[in-house]
Amino acid sequence: MTGRPATVGAGEIGTFHVPSGGTIEVINTLGGQVVDAWFFAADDPAEFASMSHSRASIRTIRPAVGSTFVTRRREPLVTLVADSSPGIHDMTMPPCDRWRYRQLGVPGHRNCADNLRSALGAEGHAAMEVLPDPLNLFQNSPVDAEGRITFLESPAPAGSSVTLRAHRDLVAYLSVCPMDIMPINGGAPRSIGVAVLDPDEAG
Ligand SMILES: [Zn+2]
Repeated sequence: MTGRPATVGAGEIGTFHVPSGGTIEVINTLGGQVVDAWFFAADDPAEFASMSHSRASIRTIRPAVGSTFVTRRREPLVTLVADSSPGIHDMTMPPCDRWRYRQLGVPGHRNCADNLRSALGAEGHAAMEVLPDPLNLFQNSPVDAEGRITFLESPAPAGSSVTLRAHRDLVAYLSVCPMDIMPINGGAPRSIGVAVLDPDEAG
């Protein structure tokens, strides 16, 4: 896909096929929006970017330009190659899900986990009860020196973006997190832009 970036609406999920060597840019069009990102190898749904294996591989919980996310088989799948945001991302949290919203007193709320399940189904995947943890782009949930975790508003400015390069043909699922109770999206989720470039366009 080329040309104008696609838009994924607040609370929705977009599915993007990225060829090996190509890139996917995730644009925080209006700022302050968290995007739960999953990457699956196009030819093997058992191969996906695993956050636990990636943490062990890059030896940090703070991914930055140059960080490569690996699969459970330790194979490189996708690398963060550009970031014009403040570089605040999370690779420790699960996606929001129906049970999280039930805890918060809003059962039936749209959620990133069910977004992924429906998107995987649309791609012909068998249902997955246990989902991989996402790369939570732009999510500000810092861990302090004592190990405590807090949830803060995303500092990503409007128009800032991250770009990731595929190491093999993959499918990216980008859920525009609908969380409007915790402050991570500033209380009001909003749409994002996504641009996929083929290898010859990505340079
Ligand atoms: Zn979410």
